[in-house]
Amino acid sequence: MTSNAELKNGNDKFQVDSKYRGLESNVWIELNSLNDVLGNCVNLGQGFPDFQPAPAIVAELEKVCRSDPNLYAFHQYARAYGHPRLVKALAALYGKLLDRSIDPMNEVLVTGGAYGALFYTIMANVGAGDEVIIIEPYFDCYEPMVLLAGGTPRYIALKPDAVNSSASSASWCLDMDELGKLFNSKTKAIILNTPNNPLGKMFSREELTAIADLCKKFNVLVISDEVYEWLVYDHNSHIRIASLPGMWERTVTIGSAGKTFSLTGWKLGWAYGPHHLIRNLQIAHQNCTYMCQTPEQEAVAAALEVEIGRLGTEQSHFQKLTKELVGKRDEMVKAIRDAGMVPVVPQGGYFILVDWTPIESTVDLESETDQCEDIRFVKWLAKKKQLLGIPPSAFYSAEHKHFARNYIRFNFYKKTETLEKAKEILKLLQAPNQK
Ligand code: PMP
Ligand code: GLN
Repeated sequence: MTSNAELKNGNDKFQVDSKYRGLESNVWIELNSLNDVLGNCVNLGQGFPDFQPAPAIVAELEKVCRSDPNLYAFHQYARAYGHPRLVKALAALYGKLLDRSIDPMNEVLVTGGAYGALFYTIMANVGAGDEVIIIEPYFDCYEPMVLLAGGTPRYIALKPDAVNSSASSASWCLDMDELGKLFNSKTKAIILNTPNNPLGKMFSREELTAIADLCKKFNVLVISDEVYEWLVYDHNSHIRIASLPGMWERTVTIGSAGKTFSLTGWKLGWAYGPHHLIRNLQIAHQNCTYMCQTPEQEAVAAALEVEIGRLGTEQSHFQKLTKELVGKRDEMVKAIRDAGMVPVVPQGGYFILVDWTPIESTVDLESETDQCEDIRFVKWLAKKKQLLGIPPSAFYSAEHKHFARNYIRFNFYKKTETLEKAKEILKLLQAPNQK
């Protein structure tokens, strides 16, 4: 008989399959483990609020989960492509926002978080030989998903045209000539994320129109990750690329209940678009998890129905969310500036990039061994100052990780008490010339 040790050691058949090789490390796993080990950090790392979501949506889930024989069906499988009440609510919501009729049964798919929607969109549309354009900095899972599908990622980085303490994410721009050069006959798709994680950049109508024109010219699919669609500050407005002329037909738009209602642990997301594209996702979905959690779908549907009626009013959950978040953003911006560091003020989303190099002389980067300096800084800050952030090099391809060198990402969607603790730490980090 073969021993366990023999089975484990040197047994090629039991190694992870080649398609996953090179994908062993993951920034969220690594940083959350560091946080667990340290046990005492103020956690501004992974993006989630550290307080209860709106009571109304939690009440909807409680309603569904009551022990009542009449509600038995909510504990059983739902329709594979999405619980009818939820797909109807999503079709009504986006139909209103895009000013078009959306077929709930054929043009909407409910998925396991936005991750699920991204995975299906990429797996079902990208194959060997296809190139996919990814705009840096990008939510880290895009790259491995494209590689798993057999595609080739082609990267282009947003670059700041101003680096100063009042600069906003709007100053990070795409070089349109450089973008144009990436498009060719092998280009299958471009992945867009607006508002962007980690930068908070919101693409303007002019930028989206230029991207759309290239996609139409080269017959390219747009995968539009809009999970932060409701987290929009100042006078910015979220523009859905699917709403631009001729773009509905070539766009899959992705959303997340986790971001929409601040309950990331529910892991419910969706994709919408024309039937000929959503059909591809349906095929991937029915051959993977097949369907998503019924009780949560019912609760999210009920909450969305209420919000559709309140869109644009003071009662809107989305307006309240934005109001609450912009205050938190401004508090963090001030604390970062007071500490002598340079924030990139986000137009949307709930993350802020900070240039920490003004305090570099006070940091012992040699105490860490990682190749990327931003990772060393993040680890030093967590271990020595008990403040956890995320190294933005995770959002860049191998050849462009140096663009992230000077930055750390903080999540500011935290309760006042947590932000106060973070501000105390930032105060102690103050740059030498600020003291
Ligand atoms: N896209 C972006 C840009 C994100 O920041 C995240 C993180 N939540 C996701 C997709 C995945 O969302 P979900 O938690 O709904 O899977
Ligand atoms: N989207 C969240 C973030 O950027 C969480 C990502 C994750 O947990 N994988 O922090």
